[in-house]
Amino acid sequence: MREVDINKLVRPNVLKMEPYSSARDEFSKTGEQLTFLDANENPFDNGWNRYPDPRQRLLKSEIAALKAISEDNILLGNGSDEVLDLLFRAFCEPGKDNIITLPPTYGMYNVLANTNDIANREVLLNRDFQIRTDAVLAEIDQNTKLIFVCSPNNPTGNIISETAIRRLLDEFKGIVVIDEAYIDFAESESWVKKLNDFKNLIVLQTFSKAYGMASIRLGMGFASEEIIAILNKIKPPYNVNGHTQEKALETLKENEVLNKQLSYIKENKEVLVKVLLQVSFVAKIYPSDANFLLIKVDDADKRYNQLLEFGIVVRNRSNQPLCENTLRITVGTAEENNRLIKAFQKLDV
Ligand SMILES: *Cc1c(COP(=O)(O)O)cnc(C)c1O
Repeated sequence: MREVDINKLVRPNVLKMEPYSSARDEFSKTGEQLTFLDANENPFDNGWNRYPDPRQRLLKSEIAALKAISEDNILLGNGSDEVLDLLFRAFCEPGKDNIITLPPTYGMYNVLANTNDIANREVLLNRDFQIRTDAVLAEIDQNTKLIFVCSPNNPTGNIISETAIRRLLDEFKGIVVIDEAYIDFAESESWVKKLNDFKNLIVLQTFSKAYGMASIRLGMGFASEEIIAILNKIKPPYNVNGHTQEKALETLKENEVLNKQLSYIKENKEVLVKVLLQVSFVAKIYPSDANFLLIKVDDADKRYNQLLEFGIVVRNRSNQPLCENTLRITVGTAEENNRLIKAFQKLDV
């Protein structure tokens, strides 16, 4: 493997930092009878009066077992959005460094680049929504720190070619972030399986989509121990609250529910594809490895507004490059999908 020096990528101020040691860091083992007078909490037990475990040990041990990795390869955050933000703050020097994103893709990368005053070098995907690898490699300079690959991609729904990602990982001396928010809906294997092969890889997953837990805000970052240790230095100590940790542990126990819902959603996606293809103003349905469909229609603004009149909210993606006249539609319950289908059929006159 080609050598990547992670320490050279870290912002100098972060490199110098020691992790913040919170009041509960050293003594969060349960079982021991300790008297906790260290964190200025209210002593009356209502179930929630104590600070949560800042290292989320119980939850991480379950996730580590599930993914067959070590707990030291895991960072948890308040949604993937927080993990993304930590990446910018650890590696990108405001006003100096740059990142590369591959539109059409998830909007948060650009929002965070702007927030952190980091130039975003956009390299459009090709017509099949795959990476133009040569063009990406040509954009890299010594200040390029992160390349964001979303796979399956939002809003296009497709898996990004393994060969293309492999080439970025091999030839880029910065960090490749693979956002796998929708990986549970896909047949392809997660890049988490290849963590040991690449020192400059970070994989993001979330409880917000397949796990059905968008409201608890829990995102996961998987990377080398070295990268995780850097992110741990700057994360707020109690970034994953106690309620979220409990709910996530419960959710992980309900594997059967997850699998049932995944098959349900996949089946109903196929039904939607079949029926929508028969609607005359639907020009194209893009192949989807996710729980949504990107469809091309005759006039997306018009169709979007007509659906609204039926009380149905979809996402108009027409202002995204390569996505003229497209709508992004989430696969719902069979009942919700039928409402959508009926609306499309009524509009098809
Ligand atoms: C929905 C989504 C996420 C999830 O973000 P959370 O903060 O974990 O809810 C991340 N990335 C992409 C591409 C998404 O579509």
